[in-house]
Amino acid sequence: MTEITLNVGAGQKEKSALLDLSLEELTEVVAGLGEPAYRARQIWEWVYKHFAVSFDEMANLPKTLRQELAAGWVISPLQSATRILSQDGDTQKVLFRLADGQTIETVLMLYDKRRTLCISSQAGCAMGCTFCATAQGGLARNLSAGEIVAQVLHFARYLANSAAEPPMNLERPTSVTNVVLMGMGEPMHNYRNVWSALRRLTDADAFGLGARHITLSTVGLIPMIERMADEGLQIALAVSLHAPNDALRSSLVPINSRYPVDDLLAAVQRYSAKTHRRVTFEYALMQGINDSPALAEELAGKLSPLLCHVNVIPLNPIPDSPFQPTSDADTARFVEILRSRGVAATVRLRRGIEINAGCGQLRQAAQRMAA
Ligand code: SF4
Repeated sequence: MTEITLNVGAGQKEKSALLDLSLEELTEVVAGLGEPAYRARQIWEWVYKHFAVSFDEMANLPKTLRQELAAGWVISPLQSATRILSQDGDTQKVLFRLADGQTIETVLMLYDKRRTLCISSQAGCAMGCTFCATAQGGLARNLSAGEIVAQVLHFARYLANSAAEPPMNLERPTSVTNVVLMGMGEPMHNYRNVWSALRRLTDADAFGLGARHITLSTVGLIPMIERMADEGLQIALAVSLHAPNDALRSSLVPINSRYPVDDLLAAVQRYSAKTHRRVTFEYALMQGINDSPALAEELAGKLSPLLCHVNVIPLNPIPDSPFQPTSDADTARFVEILRSRGVAATVRLRRGIEINAGCGQLRQAAQRMAA
């Protein structure tokens, strides 16, 4: 495990961040400086296509404009970062510090042909899932669209430059290929900013990642699932289920008492019917809690009518938690029961256990050290 502290922003807290602007807003800022609209497009391209982190890099802008922009703006709202690399170099986690001192986590996972980024949508989380490190501190605030986009652009720049960095395995693509909103926070609880960020991430004139390469994971805020069905973007939907019945699920995922399992599954069915998209259910297996054969049978019974896939994930253990991961043998048995009942299921590998790569774990560790 290697830990490195990086300076990622200009470190000037009093300045606004360009990444918090839409192209229209940026065009207004540029017009206010007496420059034509095409300058805004040039800046936009520097930020989203070349991942510029300073105005000095924007070589085709007049020097006076670069100076004026630098006097009032920073590009990224991220201030500094602590990066932790796993021993095999295939997983790295970054703890970003924001302008107001809040911290968020982003995890990069390298696979053979994919570079998957797990990003945060909120500082903290209000959902209170009992097995989750992020839940323990509650919600601090929503992230802005710029703070969400900035996590992706940080790693896009890092990967583009990574040929010079020996710890990473570099015989694979040097771009972000997949983004999952499974880091800190409930994305549906910060709907407006998340979707503003998603539109920029998928816009061909901005970051331009294919919508099918992005997955939004929710604990199941039903009205927002219905809203997502009307967004017209092919973003994949994942639902963190973790239990097949209300008694158990409400004890693990408290929001279940507002949106019970059967209502949630009915909403997912409506979503699939409307979008013709398969939904993924996440099921974190916890030893002796939700991993029995009887629960696998019950889960299969509820999911078999749905167009879905189940990702079974042995829990990432967190310090001082009563929840422990299910053994490999019991995990295999659970998955086998689902498959034998016709429910597509795979075991998702846990990544980065030694670097606290589970949601909220690094932030929690940092808060403990600071206390
Ligand atoms: S598991 Fe996700 S939704 Fe639940 S508390 Fe943690 S971050 Fe929030």
